[in-house]
Amino acid sequence: MPTHLEVLVVGAGIAGLATAAELHHRGMSVDIIERSSHPRATGAGLFLTGNSVRALTALGLRDHLTTSGAPVPSQRLQSHRGRVLADISTADLWRGTDECVGITRAALHAALHDIVPVPVRHGVTLQTLKESGDGVDVEFSDGETGRYDVVVGADGIRSGLREYVDPAAATRYLGQVCWRFLTDDAAGIDRWTVWLGRGTTFLAYPVGRGQVCCYADISAASPLDPTDGTADLSRFFSGFDQRVQDLLATPAARATHFSPVEEVSGGTWTSGRVVLVGDAAHASSPNMAQGVGMAMEDAQVLADTLAIEGHTPDLLEQYAQRRIPRTRWVQRQTHQRDRTRSMPPAVRDFVLRHFALRLYERATAPLRELP
Ligand SMILES: Cc1cc2nc3c(=O)[nH]c(=O)nc-3n(C[C@H](O)[C@H](O)[C@H](O)COP(=O)(O)OP(=O)(O)OC[C@H]3O[C@@H](n4cnc5c(N)ncnc54)[C@H](O)[C@@H]3O)c2cc1C
Repeated sequence: MPTHLEVLVVGAGIAGLATAAELHHRGMSVDIIERSSHPRATGAGLFLTGNSVRALTALGLRDHLTTSGAPVPSQRLQSHRGRVLADISTADLWRGTDECVGITRAALHAALHDIVPVPVRHGVTLQTLKESGDGVDVEFSDGETGRYDVVVGADGIRSGLREYVDPAAATRYLGQVCWRFLTDDAAGIDRWTVWLGRGTTFLAYPVGRGQVCCYADISAASPLDPTDGTADLSRFFSGFDQRVQDLLATPAARATHFSPVEEVSGGTWTSGRVVLVGDAAHASSPNMAQGVGMAMEDAQVLADTLAIEGHTPDLLEQYAQRRIPRTRWVQRQTHQRDRTRSMPPAVRDFVLRHFALRLYERATAPLRELP
């Protein structure tokens, strides 16, 4: 029944910070804990699609995106040698939402940290959690205790709270490993630009202040050993366009973030008064660039739903039922993109030359609608 709730958010990534800010905007009290001992944003950059920027704008971050990021006016798809297959205007694709932006992870995290109403308690995790009566009792790793109306699991793809909510849900390896790094723009990258090889992809887009984010992936039957993963990346991209070689020749290309590409598709996002948001609930392949958008939308919808009068566990279930179809749609589109990617290059290039716009339009249309 109450709309003033005491909420604990576990995890200060994009989903957790956005959830804390959205709940605070609706008058709720929030505590937020984060396992790492200091603010950090692992990874490199983020391509923010129109729906992601729309949600960030609603939190008052539009100016920050303009100052710290870079507009991304189009998406260019090319063969590995740089032959253009399609140019897609992001203004057309995301019409009615907002412009697309590239930004560093560090800049987006800093902006979200600035609008979170309470200090993040760094270096703290949950030790125990027990639901009783109308609340959840928790013990923290620093010896403190607390009682909350709701606990939000925003603890990422390897979520501990997901094990509590849906023990059967597991991460699934999607058959690719990836690298990403930030570097000075050594190749004149003024848009989202991808080069497609045989089972290999190299992507670059501007993230502001003269920097570009590079992302590379290769198909691999099983995840490579991380030591192998940090070895010289350029060996997978010999024969690619000179601009790829120029980016790979920059010093930053020797200090990459490496990880397997995985997804999470659990059937349940809530258990009593515990609820999941962001990657903890629905991590997906980055090929749709919807991680931030889905996390931001989760935060908005969860806060809107909890602001309604009602029995809190029922409201949490309503939130999940509203969000699951949209996040599953995104995951299905990522699978479709993987199928296109794994076609023989001549067939794939033909498909993209003739149908890329239609395929992108179809994958994007529902996401232009408000969540
Ligand atoms: C290679 C790659 C490229 C991507 N590119 C894009 C892109 O261009 N655009 C886009 O929109 N999305 C992209 N994504 C997806 C996007 O990064 C994620 O969807 C988004 O960061 C999810 O945020 P999150 O807050 O849910 O999880 P996370 O960012 O993982 O945050 C979880 C937080 O919880 C903390 N935590 C974990 N366990 C505990 C605990 N027990 N107690 C306390 N804290 C805990 C962690 O330390 C972490 O800070 C990409 C993903 C990958 C892998």
